Amino acid sequence: MDRGSLHPRKLRFGRNAAKAQQLGRDREITRAIFATAIILAGALATWHAARIAAATHDAEWAGVGVALLAGVLLADLLAGGVHWACDTWGDERTRWLGAGLIRSFRDHHHRPQAMLEHDWIEVNGEAATAAVGAFAVMALGGPSLGLLEHPSWYAFSWSAIGVSALSNQIHQWAHSHAPPRFVRKLQRCGLILSRRRHAPHHRAPCIDRYCITTGWMNPALDRTGAWRTLEAGIARATGATPRAHEIRAAPNTKGTSRATAAGPS
Ligand SMILES: [Zn+2]
Ligand SMILES: [Zn+2]
Repeated sequence: MDRGSLHPRKLRFGRNAAKAQQLGRDREITRAIFATAIILAGALATWHAARIAAATHDAEWAGVGVALLAGVLLADLLAGGVHWACDTWGDERTRWLGAGLIRSFRDHHHRPQAMLEHDWIEVNGEAATAAVGAFAVMALGGPSLGLLEHPSWYAFSWSAIGVSALSNQIHQWAHSHAPPRFVRKLQRCGLILSRRRHAPHHRAPCIDRYCITTGWMNPALDRTGAWRTLEAGIARATGATPRAHEIRAAPNTKGTSRATAAGPS
């Protein structure tokens, strides 16, 4: 919102005063919900970690360690998959996901540093809300899912959900010139994505290094051409064109945009 729209006279007497006040109230409520979700997600993650530790016998710790690692890899893959899908298919008009998720990824390519303008509530709120739901399912469905009898499965689910919930924050740190000291250490060790390892994704044509948590899955996925294979399969099955929005926007040789040449889509 620009300064003009916040002018007191406009707020008090303008036609949009009531709407502006309602938007302000909605924003504060959303922030309160997100802040609560972040605290709850942390509390539930800690509670589940204690239960995993209590349920694990000495001989099972090696298996739990492998499961934790597998969960981290799955989280990296899931974050990469969502990122790839939003960069590749649809546009801002796509039903359900276009106005929010797809637009935010497309905007991120145009203004990569803009995500640094968001505070920790805005960056982590949505992912934390989803994590609270997943952790709650684990808590309520634990007995029927047999989680305590299978601590490796419990640990795998816990780390996949926990690391997925941190993906936006880790991505934001990978754009920051001055992340916290402990983050810089984790980045230097390669435990989370760093600026150096994420920067190539933002160089044209921006079609690799989609994984944005640890980034550990990127070499395997990029060297095997997994994303291109997936795109070819989906294009064959559906007739859709990967990155159609870029083709429509690219200038053609006659100086008019391809969007104009192709007509409305
Ligand atoms: Zn991207
Ligand atoms: Zn980025």
